[in-house]
Amino acid sequence: MQQLIDNFDRKFEYLRLSITDECNFKCNYCLPDGYQRTHQKQFLSQIEIKNLVNAFAELGTKKVRITGGEPSLRKDFSAIISTISKTKGIQKVATTSNGFSLQKQAKDWFDAGLDAINVSVDSLDPKMFHLITGKNIFDKVMQGVSAAVAVGFTQVKINSVLMKGLNDTNLNLYLAWIQDKPIQLRFIELMQTEDNLEFFNKHHLSGELIKQNLLKNGWTQKMGLCHDGPAQVFTHSDYQGEIGLIMPYSKDFCKSCNRLRVSSLGRLHLCLFGEEGVDLRDLLSSADDKEALKARILTALSNKKESHYLQQGNVGGTPHLASIGG
Ligand code: SAM
Ligand code: SF4
Repeated sequence: MQQLIDNFDRKFEYLRLSITDECNFKCNYCLPDGYQRTHQKQFLSQIEIKNLVNAFAELGTKKVRITGGEPSLRKDFSAIISTISKTKGIQKVATTSNGFSLQKQAKDWFDAGLDAINVSVDSLDPKMFHLITGKNIFDKVMQGVSAAVAVGFTQVKINSVLMKGLNDTNLNLYLAWIQDKPIQLRFIELMQTEDNLEFFNKHHLSGELIKQNLLKNGWTQKMGLCHDGPAQVFTHSDYQGEIGLIMPYSKDFCKSCNRLRVSSLGRLHLCLFGEEGVDLRDLLSSADDKEALKARILTALSNKKESHYLQQGNVGGTPHLASIGG
């Protein structure tokens, strides 16, 4: 079988697929002024998604994460989950959501074949949550998280972007919260994009401080978990939950890169940062183009660079992560 392996011997079995760039939140680090449409709305159709995922699966992709924008804004979200989960070779379907409709929809998504869900909860303080996301719905999102666990999701993760002066005092709240819950809490270092330079300079905080704090307090780092990709994961015998740290600015972050991205307009992005993407759209509407599609993906991958060069100040062409699916 053909495999997605690049020139640096990295293997890509994980696809992050954006199905919309629209969002109903105004996270201050992502879309502070809310979603602004900059193109005619023509996101990938179900047929295009089916053909795309099938081609990736034939190239060895095993896991697909559906992202956005806010993926659950698509009315056919459950149908998309179902299509992807039925694709031969795909072993895991996950999504990342702001949790807005989780409480109502968790069961539908579970029944459609969703295996895992990451919910963004940038603060456990309702006021701070409102300030960061522009939405005063902390309780609703938390009820959504409980609903996801209740309907049977065994892999619920919480994403929280680390921000100096905003949510950096929340660590103890988060730790208390996961003590008796089988939840992985993932702290993501704030990433610089084209649109958020000033915000980034003011609020970026290194995950290294959290790492040192955890190690000092009896947490131990899990080793060799390639399916966690670039996340460093920590456990503690007194806690049911785990902590994950995603530190894109750390040395060697890109060495464990295991993911490719496709935008909601059908462009393949080899990295979250730094390139325009390769257009796949003309090969997505017909299943007859599958071999040509696979060949284009493989050719593109041969151009994947070794690093994102973020440390050198590169922000590439990504205005904000909602545009290609963070
Ligand atoms: N709307 C969904 C959500 O927020 O979960 C999915 C899309 S969002 C772009 C995916 C993830 O990227 C979220 O966890 C979000 O917090 C994170 N994110 C967005 N912009 C970011 C940035 N500049 N730095 C770090 N993480 C970011
Ligand atoms: Fe929307 Fe997610 Fe961006 Fe927040 S991080 S504005 S929820 S796309």
